[in-house]
Amino acid sequence: MRRVSIFGATGSIGQNTIDLIARDPGGYDVVALTGGRNIAQLAADARRLKAKIAVTAHEALLPELRSALAGSGIESAAGAAALQEAATRPADWVMSAIVGAAGLAPGLAALEQGATLALANKESMVCAGALVKATAKAHGGAVLPVDSEHSAVFQGLIGEDIAAVERIIITASGGAFRDWPLEDLARATPEQAATHPNWDMGQRITIDSASMFNKALEVIETREFFGIAPEKIEVLIHPESMIHALVGFNDGALMAHVGAPDMRHAIGFALHYPDRKPLPVERLDLAQIATLSFRAPDEARTPALRLAREVMETGGLAGAAFNAAKERALDAFIEKRIGFLDMARVVETVLERFSGRRGHIDAQMTLDNVAHVDHLARQEADMVIGQN
Ligand code: NAD
Ligand code: MG
Repeated sequence: MRRVSIFGATGSIGQNTIDLIARDPGGYDVVALTGGRNIAQLAADARRLKAKIAVTAHEALLPELRSALAGSGIESAAGAAALQEAATRPADWVMSAIVGAAGLAPGLAALEQGATLALANKESMVCAGALVKATAKAHGGAVLPVDSEHSAVFQGLIGEDIAAVERIIITASGGAFRDWPLEDLARATPEQAATHPNWDMGQRITIDSASMFNKALEVIETREFFGIAPEKIEVLIHPESMIHALVGFNDGALMAHVGAPDMRHAIGFALHYPDRKPLPVERLDLAQIATLSFRAPDEARTPALRLAREVMETGGLAGAAFNAAKERALDAFIEKRIGFLDMARVVETVLERFSGRRGHIDAQMTLDNVAHVDHLARQEADMVIGQN
């Protein structure tokens, strides 16, 4: 039986993963489930899936988790060290669905024990793509993309030669504000930004979709995953979210991946890879849909995409600084300490301050060095936010 673990099991991706796994009760041996504050969900899923261990990221919630699991025989643990320990437990397939840079260390630990890592946590690739790939290679593991765009590209590349790829186009719905006038964006609230037109996702990625920081992260993720030059990566606004990505070849052919906006597509593909198995997702009726629309992103509205290009040009650990600054700016926006458009200004200022510090940016890509740059960039971001 396949041993599986799910990091971030209580989140949007985690719950979609559990939905697929629970449909085949005899098919999986569930090792670890991890979550945050939603102890009731974590415990209920651990019981339902007969997990060996359930871990909450918050130490103070350990008593609550213990009592929720009382009598089940399921181990419980709490805190970052416990999460890391759970990640070292042998598993064949591990879903990395923690949000933010916090997902990097457990993902690396899973790769170190040779697991196949299904990577929803795009921040891992943005902060430390080379390290993630090298760790997988060194231990005979594999990394499979779960981000819908990257799963689509991955599927488009099966049997193809990457050298024949001329361009990769990832689509973006445009998020909550795609049709708002630019002058209204300064007043946009976190509540408004957290409503997505097509996808049902966690709060943070939904706001990142509205600001296009999600797509900025995904452009860098594309570069890291597929080793493709930045200038070959394009972003296309596609409001219906039916085409997830297109791969363009040197003969002019474009291969598009078309599917309903349901993350169980990409999760299920990674779960069953290299096989394909039936998935409980909507079958599209294209005659019914009739039209799909596309437009180029408006540069004035998407400073995040410009920043992603700069990060790729800088290289090294710039991605870790970018992501950390973005995380703090997002925190500040959610807490209403800065406005919607200030997020990009904060990130840009942090990147400017880092550009002179080649020592940090060019340091070897180790987990410690990535964590250090992450820490410094958060401090810088907090200073910029404080001056706002
Ligand atoms: P979410 O907020 O719904 O869930 C996040 C999970 O991580 C929860 O289980 C939470 O308890 C846990 N978590 C949060 N902070 C943590 C920390 N510091 N330490 C340990 N655990 C922590 O998020 P989501 O929407 O499921 O997204 C998860 C990841 O997948 C993100 O990296 C996101 O960018 C990526 N992703 C999500 C979607 C989607 O449809 N939701 C699509 C593509 C990629
Ligand atoms: Mg995506």
